[in-house]
Amino acid sequence: MTHGDPSAAQTMVVALGADHAGWELKDRLAQHLRTAGCDVVDLGTNGPAPVDYPDYGAAVGEAVAARTAELGVAVCGSGIGIAIAAGKVPGIRAATVHDETSARLARQHNDANVVCFGARLIDPKLAIAALGAFLEASFEGGRHEPRLRKIDGIGRAGTPPRAARWAQRGDPEMDTLLDAELERQMTTLQLIASENFASPAVMAVTGSVFTNKYSEGYPRRRYYGGNVHADAAEQLAIDRIKELFGAEHANVQPHSGSQANAAAYLALLDIGDTVMGMSLDHGGHLTHGSPVNASGKLYDFVSYGLTRSDERIDYEAMAELAREHRPKLIVAGATAYPRRIDPKPFREVCDEVGAAFMFDAAHIAGLIVAGVHPNPVPFADVVTFTTHKTMRGPRGGTILCTQEYAKRIDSAVFPGSQGGPLDHAVAAKAVGFAEAARPDFAAYQSRIVTNAAALADALGSHGFRLVTGGTDNHLLLIDLRTFDPDLTGKAAQEALDAAGITLNRNAIPDDPRSPFVTSGLRMGTPSVTTQGMTPSEMAQIAEFTARVLKAPDDVGVIAQVRAEVAELCAAFPPYDR
Ligand code: PLP
Repeated sequence: MTHGDPSAAQTMVVALGADHAGWELKDRLAQHLRTAGCDVVDLGTNGPAPVDYPDYGAAVGEAVAARTAELGVAVCGSGIGIAIAAGKVPGIRAATVHDETSARLARQHNDANVVCFGARLIDPKLAIAALGAFLEASFEGGRHEPRLRKIDGIGRAGTPPRAARWAQRGDPEMDTLLDAELERQMTTLQLIASENFASPAVMAVTGSVFTNKYSEGYPRRRYYGGNVHADAAEQLAIDRIKELFGAEHANVQPHSGSQANAAAYLALLDIGDTVMGMSLDHGGHLTHGSPVNASGKLYDFVSYGLTRSDERIDYEAMAELAREHRPKLIVAGATAYPRRIDPKPFREVCDEVGAAFMFDAAHIAGLIVAGVHPNPVPFADVVTFTTHKTMRGPRGGTILCTQEYAKRIDSAVFPGSQGGPLDHAVAAKAVGFAEAARPDFAAYQSRIVTNAAALADALGSHGFRLVTGGTDNHLLLIDLRTFDPDLTGKAAQEALDAAGITLNRNAIPDDPRSPFVTSGLRMGTPSVTTQGMTPSEMAQIAEFTARVLKAPDDVGVIAQVRAEVAELCAAFPPYDR
């Protein structure tokens, strides 16, 4: 008996479950189904000993959701509790019915896939007739279709973690951590400049079946079988990102920004070659030659930095250094630089000294795609970036390059420095790149910059000095020394953390304190802008910050700000709960 098709009787599998009040009726219904030629999955209970109906309702719902059975039958005393339980399983529409008409309508209009009976309220013969009507009927579609879609959508819109919901099965310790982390993200302010809230679609694909796949190699040139869909997903990501940046070639496999940079160096350099990058304490990244990073150990990095006068990149000094050291590669890009980076002077210097030019756009990739900051692709030989910061995709890295470097870059990623790509991350990158192509993404990037400028102004009015005096991008750097010479970046970060304001301490140019302590704080606006906050909320955030940092040891002040932060966050939830 397939829905409305009695000729296909043998093909139907029906799952049945009941509590102690319903098991006898369940057994009679099962017997009837067997006689009618159905396959029966009996999930119990099978005796009068008291049990909890939610366990059996959920078991029936899960059997249908997992397609172990096509339809489900659930019985308890009233038919109500077990229907509520079964209906909690995603994809299940459970209906309590009383007669043939309600049973038929439950399928015709509501496409119910679990039918529920109250053993204490319905005569067994009527229940059997109603079950027959349920199985015979089929969904009518038409006007009922959009209504069903609405039902399915309830509680789903904007819900992030399908992945998290998958994880929330059978690991109570991890469930607790997931819930706690979601709560933290929902109730505190996320001002770490490198973070964002990925969309529900990106989150879902990150937690998708692509995590099960191995696909060493590149689309249509794999070392493993079964890659037809992985190929298509990776190709989508490649095509989309090439289009967004106007790049000749893209490699979307790097597991992170650091991996992207390491692969780019492997492609462009030999061990011991001279390279120029921005100094770490002027805003460069670890992977731009820090002695504690492989880049600094394997290559001979020479650092350029900022002018003392206005704390902007000193392009002239950079050119002088290049003439002196004749690097094979010059790296532009930063992790804590609040101003626009102009790729043109770098290209000119590279041409003059015969160096290749790499632009690390990790932080500002989203701003570039939106046209808010200049695109380095027409100038650079290689552009690397992370996909999870302003780009708002999944965690990961990507490399763009000219055709001239394509082969070298691909070999440097695989097999040079990575094995199998993270196919789930690659697929989620494709989704993130599609989102970045939408017009609202450009508007979002402009709002990030507007919010950062508003936050900078408001912080200035509370007496904070900002490195470079302000910002042109998504981040700003506070020099705490003028606000309170004794307040370190570390102490400030900890006090703000306690007040629900999450950010990171950061070295300021020529910081007298160690990188672990620092005299600065970095703040970024990508996350709060994704939440929909505006300049007026930026003014509030600046006021919270000033209040806490004026009294970093005052638990009363911290508690009060934390409560106000939670209230602000509640008005701008990043996800539906
Ligand atoms: N490059 C720059 C400029 C960055 O700011 C970062 C990360 O913050 C990276 C590279 C490294 O990215 P990941 O943390 O994904 O390795």
